[in-house]
Amino acid sequence: MVKQMIRVRNKAKVTIKELNLTPEQINAVEKIMSGIPSSREMKRREVKRILNGSLCCICFGIPSVELGTPAGRGGIVVERYCEKCCTMVY
Ligand SMILES: [Zn+2]
Repeated sequence: MVKQMIRVRNKAKVTIKELNLTPEQINAVEKIMSGIPSSREMKRREVKRILNGSLCCICFGIPSVELGTPAGRGGIVVERYCEKCCTMVY
């Protein structure tokens, strides 16, 4: 799995990281999301375990990029978006 770090122009020094999820990861997540038994909280925990992070923070779909926004004192706010939502916010 290759991870790319791209520093984009000057847009508030936002970093974009492509997630490059494997088909196995995507399958596993889709299976969890369509599963009936587990609660929403359990689903979220399982997804987090598989993806090492959250779903798209707008539509809760499979994320494809991770945006890191500097948030004062050296902190970074990390948000994940799917391809579609990323073009909306970025
Ligand atoms: Zn989305």
